[in-house]
Amino acid sequence: MAEDTNASSDHPHSPTVSPTVGIDLGTTNSLVAVCDQRGPRIIEDDQGQRLLPSVVRFDDDDVLVGRRARDEAVLHPEITVSSAKRLMGRSADEVGDAANFRGAQVVPGPRGLASIKLGTRVLTPQEVSAHVLARLRRLAEDELGTPVSRAVITVPAYFDDAQRTATRDAARLAGLQTARIVNEPTAAALAYGLGNRSDEERAVVVFDLGGGTFDVSLLQLLPAEDEMEALCEVLATAGDTALGGDDFDQLLADHILNAAGLESEAWAQLAAQTRQAIMQCARRVKEHLSEHPVARLALDIEDPALATVLDLEISREQFESMIESLVRRTIECCAQVLQDGGVEAEAIDRVVLVGGSTRVPAVRSAVREFFGAEPYVALDPDEVVAMGAAVQASILDGTRSDLLLLDVIPLSLGLETVGGAVAKLLVRNASIPARASERFSTSVDGQTSVRLQVLQGERELVEDCRSLGTFHLSGIPPMPAGIPKIEVDFIVDADGVLSVHAVESRSGRRASTQFVPSYGLTNDEVEQIEADSFTHARSDLHAHRVIDLRVNAGLDVKWIKEALARVRGDLDPTYVTELEADIRALEELIEEAGRNPSTVDADAFQAAKERLDRDSIRLHEESIAASLRADQD
Ligand code: ADP
Ligand code: MG
Repeated sequence: MAEDTNASSDHPHSPTVSPTVGIDLGTTNSLVAVCDQRGPRIIEDDQGQRLLPSVVRFDDDDVLVGRRARDEAVLHPEITVSSAKRLMGRSADEVGDAANFRGAQVVPGPRGLASIKLGTRVLTPQEVSAHVLARLRRLAEDELGTPVSRAVITVPAYFDDAQRTATRDAARLAGLQTARIVNEPTAAALAYGLGNRSDEERAVVVFDLGGGTFDVSLLQLLPAEDEMEALCEVLATAGDTALGGDDFDQLLADHILNAAGLESEAWAQLAAQTRQAIMQCARRVKEHLSEHPVARLALDIEDPALATVLDLEISREQFESMIESLVRRTIECCAQVLQDGGVEAEAIDRVVLVGGSTRVPAVRSAVREFFGAEPYVALDPDEVVAMGAAVQASILDGTRSDLLLLDVIPLSLGLETVGGAVAKLLVRNASIPARASERFSTSVDGQTSVRLQVLQGERELVEDCRSLGTFHLSGIPPMPAGIPKIEVDFIVDADGVLSVHAVESRSGRRASTQFVPSYGLTNDEVEQIEADSFTHARSDLHAHRVIDLRVNAGLDVKWIKEALARVRGDLDPTYVTELEADIRALEELIEEAGRNPSTVDADAFQAAKERLDRDSIRLHEESIAASLRADQD
């Protein structure tokens, strides 16, 4: 019996019931997600890739979807289609020249709808998208081990009926029934569980900067009537269908070209391979600069129009000044959407970042500054829409009730401390919103960076808790161990999103990160974790105490030995012998605690430490007197 229950909690979907999946059918990338008792999660392909580029290549006898089709697009422009979403459900007239993109020719197809001419074939955007959807469907089937036939699919909030119908048609061609079409910004809000816990109306802005398009939406969330489904209304949208990460790439590509001594106009004369290489390089540089202050690129170009070896450094500041006017345009759209919705920036309760290009720090800080609030980034901006679609799917399937939806913190939240113990900042069952802070320091002299690991669970040691993630606070000026003051704040807001901020007060260096702690755990697992914490309470407390004693005693011994070396000559030899005996006794216990913490007598350890502390008072006084004498000399 017990084994049965375990098996079903490991595989929340029994093989006969196929869940409705959530699909983000994107202009640049598409994803599929599923929501089970652990919350929504993205389905990976067999290479571990989560994003499927929405690019399809039509070879004579084969259709290639995804990464390779994208990477080789420049080599096969006449048979590759990307960005088919831009044409979905639109007439050829409407689209006009704007959509004559990347080699593919847009022609009027059935009923005058925009279609794509590839060689002798004419394809509708629905057919192209169906290949992307079919690929996602197979991914989900492989992962879930069951046929998948229903999906929630997301579309931009501004899509009209024709565009929504075209999306349903594409799904049907891929063998998928569309359980519901959901607006992308609404999906993003659902992924964060916005509206689940609130009984008030709330204004949410979703800022979505993708590969080729920018959308900003103002949503109004109304309190949930039937518990399951909050009402979400799109009050206003704004954006630019020709603004996105691709434009950032193009600006960098121009910069690279200029560095090679060519004008941007020379672009067209370059061979397809060369353009491809430069574009790929530009994208890598851009993505690198989201994490690092400088990117170095080395590019060996062999082209009739340009043969050179480029070795170039591009700084984040340089990149930021290139994209400045584009970033400003996104903010102008934000102002527009607020004006259209009749809402002030201060009245916005949450700002959600969506789309890969919101990883660019300059974009983040522009949004933060405009709205005067820290935007939501806990969920991966590429993935948040698909996750929300999966949440909607689980609501429709009726499996939503298994999710953790709580108005308290289900499990304690804390940080790793030196030695592998956990300092709990917020304890289980605290009601949300909740906030706590604690001061930490460095453990090694001259340490300039600390790694902060955020943990969830009830046990005392890191290895027995669940790691939510790590982040680094760097750029701390070198100081002796224990001197830097690192203040760490944990804030869980009314939606259950955890923000962690760390600041070193002397240097003002700061770092922060966010999590959705309720995702990744089932109710059963939470109960199990609680039960385990009771079973292990005694041994855990002992272990935690021994680890702390070991760290603190180690610092004491180090300091006392240093002081002793300085003033040994001024001290009474019997006192020195006594002190050295104390030190040796404590060092033995420190060593034993390192070897086998469970057998150390914590009381004896504590007593030995207190004894050394007491006996070293005279040494402290002598050491201070000596340094005063030194100052006078
Ligand atoms: P779409 O919604 O149009 O399908 P995505 O949300 O997948 O697009 O965003 C794709 C864009 O995000 C691409 O231009 C890609 O280069 C950009 N991107 C992805 N990761 C990063 C990063 N780390 N830094 C900057 N841009 C990134
Ligand atoms: Mg998108």
